[in-house]
Amino acid sequence: MTRATVQRSVGGVIYREREGEMWVVLIATRGGKTWGLPKGLIEKGEKPLEAAVREVREEAGLQGDPVADLGHIEYWYRDSKSKVLYHKFVQYYLLNYVGGDVADHGWEVDEARWFPVGDALETVSYENEREVLSSAQERWRGLSPRDA
Ligand code: ATP
Repeated sequence: MTRATVQRSVGGVIYREREGEMWVVLIATRGGKTWGLPKGLIEKGEKPLEAAVREVREEAGLQGDPVADLGHIEYWYRDSKSKVLYHKFVQYYLLNYVGGDVADHGWEVDEARWFPVGDALETVSYENEREVLSSAQERWRGLSPRDA
């Protein structure tokens, strides 16, 4: 059996409502080729939720308040330099936008951009993150008084 090193990251779907629609933020990486949710490794001593809020602030330039747990995704990848095989788990949280500007995105991110959730679902690069966005949309529908 192949041995893999477990790696745990956390990420966020940060949202706001504009004209009755849910808008969410995706970040572009790898020279703008990949669109995905802001995420990153949990630092020592951090709780997963704290780390998710920090990653969204650092990568997307935005502050968010936690609203719900969106579950996790998992995937395997091999680091091209070290050749280490990773089994990665990424836990996501739904965050309500409270402030900040995507123009203040992190240096390691090519762009951070607000999308109507339908456009985000079409744009996001990985299928498993598309599913995270879908469950965020479901949650939002449950929260929104308009659809209650
Ligand atoms: P982190 O943002 O957690 O610090 P990272 O930027 O170092 O992580 P990943 O984004 O996990 O690394 O990318 C490592 C490898 O996994 C890359 O080859 C990437 O293409 C692949 N990968 C990234 N996200 C996913 C995903 N959601 N599903 C499948 N493979 C993915």
